[in-house]
Amino acid sequence: MKTYIQSVTLYDGRGNKQESINLLFDETGILEIGTADYSSHADRIIDGRSLTALPGLIDLHVHLTMDGTADSMSKTVADSVGVAAYRALVHAEKQIQAGVVTVRNCGSKYNIDIELRKAISEGIVKGPRIFACGQPITMTGGHCHMFGTEVDGVEEVRKAARLKIKEGADFLKLMATGGGLTPGVKAGASQLTEEEMAIACQVANEAGKRTAAHAQGCEGIKNAIRAGVTTIEHGVELDDEAIQLMKEKSTYLVPTLAAPYQIVKNGTAAGIPEFAVRKNEEAMVPHRASFRKAHQENIKIAAGTDAGTPFNLHGDFATELELMKEEGMSVLEVIHAATYMAAEALGIEDKTGSLEVGKWADVVLIDGDPQTDFSAFRRVMHVFKNGENLFSKV
Ligand SMILES: [Zn+2]
Repeated sequence: MKTYIQSVTLYDGRGNKQESINLLFDETGILEIGTADYSSHADRIIDGRSLTALPGLIDLHVHLTMDGTADSMSKTVADSVGVAAYRALVHAEKQIQAGVVTVRNCGSKYNIDIELRKAISEGIVKGPRIFACGQPITMTGGHCHMFGTEVDGVEEVRKAARLKIKEGADFLKLMATGGGLTPGVKAGASQLTEEEMAIACQVANEAGKRTAAHAQGCEGIKNAIRAGVTTIEHGVELDDEAIQLMKEKSTYLVPTLAAPYQIVKNGTAAGIPEFAVRKNEEAMVPHRASFRKAHQENIKIAAGTDAGTPFNLHGDFATELELMKEEGMSVLEVIHAATYMAAEALGIEDKTGSLEVGKWADVVLIDGDPQTDFSAFRRVMHVFKNGENLFSKV
C-alpha cells in the first residue's frame, strides 16, 4: 500500500531539515522524497502541513518485561513465563504508540524478548523491530543476577555467550559493574573483568553480533571499552581516559538519563525501594556531568531510556529526549541520537535510521515542529514500520 505524505516538515535523521516536502513509501521502502507531486501514485494521502516526519525512532535500551512501577524489578523477578510474555507484548505496543519502531531489549527474565521478536517477525502479533539479548550475562551475585545468567571466569563466559547466540540473541548484554536496582550490589564496583568481557565480545564478533555493557563506575567502564564492547550503557563516571578510550575504539554511549531522573524524582514516597533511591541519587550528578563531557568530546551518543525501570514508562521516549536537550544537545542532535546514530550502533544504518529513498519505510509523524515546540515528541500521530501503518491517533 502506497502512502503519500504531502507538504511535511522533514528531519532526515542525519542532521538535515527540510520544509514542505512530499514523501511516498510502501512496504518495500521509501520510494520518493522531494517537491514533486506523487499523489497519483498513492493509495493513502496524509496532509502533512502541521506535521513533522522523522525516521522511525530507535530506543537502544528498554526492558519490555518490566512495567515501570515503583518496584518493577521485584515484579519481573516474580513473574511466570506467561505473565512476562503478556507484559512484554503490552509494552511493545506502547513503544509503537510513542513512535519507537525499533528497540534493543537489554535483558529480560527467560528469553521473552527473543520469543517476542520471533512472534512479531512471524506476524503473530504487531510490535516494534526487536533486537534481543535474552538473559544478561552477569557474574555470580552480580547486577541483575535475579534474572541473568551467572558466570565466573573466561570459560564460563565463553559458554554463556555461545549459548545466548544459539538461543537467538541478536547481541550480548554484559554487566561490567554493579547497578542501582540490584539490592546488595555496589553500583560503581567493577564486576565482569576485562578478560571475561573480551571473550564475550570475541564470541559475539565471530557470530556477527554486537555487545552492550551495563557500566556505571569508571574502572568497569574502561574494562568494558578495552574489552571491545559496542555500547556503554549509562556511563555514569566517565573520566578523561574513558573518553579517550571511547574515541579510540569508536564506542557508543547510551546514556539512559531518564532512569535515575525518574527514580530520584519519585523517590521512596512513591514506593521505590530505599536502596535504589539512594544509589540513584549518588549517580545522578556524575551521570549528567559525564553525558555533557561525552557530548562536548564528540563521543557517539545514541538514545536509550532504560524503560521499565521505576516510573520510566514504555511509551515515554520524550522524557529521555528532553533530558538530552536539557544537558546540551541541539534538537537536530537529539533526533540524530534517536535515529541514525542508534541505527549505526545496531549496524542497520544502511536500512533505517534516516529518511532516504531506498531505505525501509520506518516513518513517524508528530504534531508540530520540535525545533519550535519540543513537546511535539509527545504528540505522535502516525507510525509506520516497513511501510505498514502500526498506529494512527484517531
Ligand atoms: Zn537496563
